[in-house]
This record gives sequence, C-alpha cells and structure tokens, in this order.
Amino acid sequence: MGSIQKGEDSSEFGSSVIQDVWLCDTLEKAEAFIASPHHASSSSDEGGRYKIKMQNYVGGSFTEPPSTSTTTATATSQYIDAVDPKTGKTFGQVPISSADEVEHALRAATDAFGPWSTTPAAARSKHLQRVAQLIQEHRELFAVWESIDQGKTLERARVEVDRAVSNFKVPQLRTAARVVDGANILTYEHRSPAGVFALISPWNMPLYLLTWKMAPCLAFGCTAVAKPSEVTSMTAFLLCEVFRRAGLPAGTMNVVFGDGATTGSALVRSPLVRGGVSFTGGTATGIQIRRDTADQIYKHLSLELGGKNPTLVFGDVEMDKAVQTAAMAAFENQGEICLCGSRIYVQSSIYDDFVAAFTAYVQANYKCGERVGAHLPLPLHREAPARGPGRRLLDPPTILTDVRPGSRLLQDEIFGPVATISRFATEDEAVRLANDNPNGLAAVLLTRDGARMRRVGERLEAGLVWVNCWLVRELGTPFGGMKSSGTGREGGEYSRDVFTHVRTLHMPLQ
Ligand code: NDP
Repeated sequence: MGSIQKGEDSSEFGSSVIQDVWLCDTLEKAEAFIASPHHASSSSDEGGRYKIKMQNYVGGSFTEPPSTSTTTATATSQYIDAVDPKTGKTFGQVPISSADEVEHALRAATDAFGPWSTTPAAARSKHLQRVAQLIQEHRELFAVWESIDQGKTLERARVEVDRAVSNFKVPQLRTAARVVDGANILTYEHRSPAGVFALISPWNMPLYLLTWKMAPCLAFGCTAVAKPSEVTSMTAFLLCEVFRRAGLPAGTMNVVFGDGATTGSALVRSPLVRGGVSFTGGTATGIQIRRDTADQIYKHLSLELGGKNPTLVFGDVEMDKAVQTAAMAAFENQGEICLCGSRIYVQSSIYDDFVAAFTAYVQANYKCGERVGAHLPLPLHREAPARGPGRRLLDPPTILTDVRPGSRLLQDEIFGPVATISRFATEDEAVRLANDNPNGLAAVLLTRDGARMRRVGERLEAGLVWVNCWLVRELGTPFGGMKSSGTGREGGEYSRDVFTHVRTLHMPLQ
C-alpha cells in the first residue's frame, strides 16, 4: 500500500501525502491503508492509524503545512478531523486556512487571471478535457474516497464521479449580432471573463458540486479560489493532483481547505475576489454571504440554496411506477440531495393504497448500508444540521403521515431520509400545498394526464420540475431555485451570466 507502481516515481506526485493515497482505489485498499502505521508526512492517532494531512493547492503546488515551531497567528494553526461517518473513525486532517492563506491563494488567482482570460477558449477547453480524462481514468479512486468521506454508497459515489467528468464538457460561447432597424448600425454582445471567483460548495455531493462550479469558471476564462466543505474535503484534495497532472496553468484553480466561519468568510469578503461568488449550500449561509458582500456591488452572486421539495401524486398514476419514483426522489443519497422530494402529497382517491405500497417498497429496497448510507437519527435532525461526524449508519428511512398542516416538518429542510405523506383533493389544492413553502428549488409531478403535466407543472413555484421522473438532467439546462432557494442560474451557457461581463457594442455597418 502506498508503494510506487511501475511507471510511476515519486517525482510524479505533487505531494508525498497524495503519493501515499493515490493507489488506494478499492475500499479494501483504502481501509487497510488508513489502518496502517503512520507515515512521516502524516500524523497519527493514539492507535498509530494513519491520518491523511490535506494540503492547500495554491499557484500549482501543494503548500507545505507549517511546522509547529513556525506557526504564527496568521498561518494555519488548526486542523479538524476528517471522519468516515460509516465507522466513526478519523482518517484524515483538514487544515483550517487562515485569512492570510486565503489571500495568498487569491493573489495566485489574480496573477493567473490575465494570461488565462486571454487564452483562446479552445485552448482552455483542451485543459478541461484533460482534467475530465484524468478523473475518468481514476474513477474508482475518487468514488472510494467519496464514499469513505461522505458516507454515501460506492454505487452512488460512482454516479457522481461520472457527473463530475461531464461537468468539464462546457459549451463555448456563442454570441448574437443584430442590425438596429433603420439606423444601419450593427450591434452585438461581447462577453469577457468577469475576474477572480470564490467557489464554495457543500458536503453532500462534494466532487460533483465543486466541479459544477470549477469547470464553467475556467471555461469562461475566470480563475478562482475554491473552498470545499470542511466536512468532506478528500476528493477536492485528490482533484488538486489531477489539476497538476493535467498541466492546468499555475494559479488558475486554487483550493483552500477550512471551515465557513474562518476560511469561507475570509474568501467571500476579500476585495481580491473581483469576479464574484458562486455558492451552493444552505439558505442561512447564502443570506450571510449576501450580507457580507453587500457593499461590494461589483461581485456577481450565484446562490444555489436549500430546498423542501414537493412530490405530487395524482389519482391517475400507475401505482408501482409512482411509488418507485417518489421513493427515489425522497431517499436517494439518504435524502441528502437538495432536490429530494421530501413532502409527498397524494390525491385522496389513492392515498391509503399509496401509503401502503410506498411503505412496503421503501422497507424492501432502502436498507441501511445497502442503498442508504450514513445519516443522522431523526431526533438529531431536529436539533442539528445533518452533517459531519455525528452521522452514522442507522435504521431505514422514516415516513411520516398525518402531519399537522403548518408543522415545521412540512416547512423546514431536514436534509436526511425523512419524508412526509399528506393528502389533497383537487388540482388547485395540490398546487397550493406544493407552493406553501419558503423554498422553491424543485418539484416532482406524477400523473398520466398530459394536459395536467403542463397545467400544473407551469404553476409550481420551483426552478426545476420533473414529470414522472426525477434527477434526470441535461447539464446545459438552467439550474437554480426560486424564492428562498437562491438567485441566478448555472449550467452550460447559463453559467456564462455568472462568470462573464457582457457589454453591448454598437458600430456603423459602413
Ligand atoms: P452550508 O451552508 O452549511 O455550507 C456550505 C458551504 O459554505 C460549506 O463549504 C461551508 O463551509 C461554507 N460556509 C459556511 N459559512 C460560510 C460563510 N459565512 N461564508 C462563506 N462560506 C461559508 O451547507 P451544507 O454544507 O450543510 O450543505 C447542505 C445545504 O446545501 C442544504 O441546505 C442543501 O439543500 C444545500 N444544497 C443546495 C444545492 C443546490 O444546488 N441548490 C445542492 C446541494 C446542497 P464548511 O462546511 O466548511 O463550514
């Protein structure tokens, strides 16, 4: 374990920590490696278990962790544990980067912005394709560590690694030119990269959501400092080695590790972030970021926030298919996807049959440790955000019926394997109940009536509506929420509004 294989030597690795981890591409290898005696480049717990000490990636290099003797008030002086929520065991340490370290990374991104923003889009795209290819080649490595770090099943982790690869296929910019009627003036849109960005992502789909921001940011000519969630930083650490191997120019994409209060906050507030902030996470954090950047009006803000999404089940559905779709929407990735349909509303005519079929299906198919990964027990969902070391492999998902209208269970995002089932009588009531929530991220509509698909679908206050399906996405379509679920849209060409400035030029035709 950790040995160099044929064709690879230590100079091939950006850091000795990465070198140790890089070959652990099965759960067995990774677990044996973590349990092995400590290595010089790591620290270890009392039992001598290896702890992977993650390092920031700045200016194309991994930064050396400061030694205790050189630690100053401004250098990293703290680490927090990276924990496998399935076992509760610590496998790594994540640095809490200071404001100075954030600024150091932002200076690297600022220096890189000039050359990168003027690099032809086709050349930038080649770099991204190389990154995609390397993630693809190391698919199992990323999936294994995502599963260990986040607690999701290996199968689910593989799906997200594949999505991360797809993220790097960003379309090139198109522009429209028109002639001003009667004036003989040609007018066209000119787009230019907006500047240095702060990219901040949550803990639930770490690699996928981080690359969702990184790829268009780079494709549209911006540079960035990214901060993954400190709860799930491991695949971002591995991704830095991919950037290095792909030959991504130094400073174009930098990664600093740390918590929101110290590292994230310093990052979004910094005046060196000239382009803007692309953030995915909870609504409360989104509000805080808006406050923290309020007087820096030039910053573009893209906020992809929380959801409490309805699933509407009409009386005309084919029961088996409706049950499967509603269950997947509620409990995929333990309900820890912002798009999960956790409020299920069923038409009265089939309510009892649906509840019975749904309960039986979930009990049979969503077993913990199989399709359901680590999560928090229900009482804790009420007390604490469902994240971090407190998550464990627990009982199957929770289904709640007869919930009092107005209950917080119908209003607040739980972000775990908990779904409510309530009833409605008419189409109007279904729409009213679905929209009775401060969030507006996604909605699922289950019906066989073609006219209703549009009639109801177009009245739902949600940025994404799925009819008789869920989570099927063409990654170039606009993604984002209404109401408290955020502002701005990202995805394919829509991301260009986040990452570019637009100016409209007018010039004579003759
Ligand atoms: P948080 O809002 O707690 O954290 C998101 C990120 O923001 C983390 O990297 C966090 O750092 C960082 N952060 C926290 N405080 C600040 C701050 N003051 N300034 C800058 N950064 C900060 O969300 P979670 O990680 O708990 O993720 C779950 C939430 O994300 C749910 O509400 C879910 O619905 C939402 N989400 C939305 C999606 C969407 O596309 N709309 C997709 C996926 C999730 P750290 O964790 O290191 O403290």
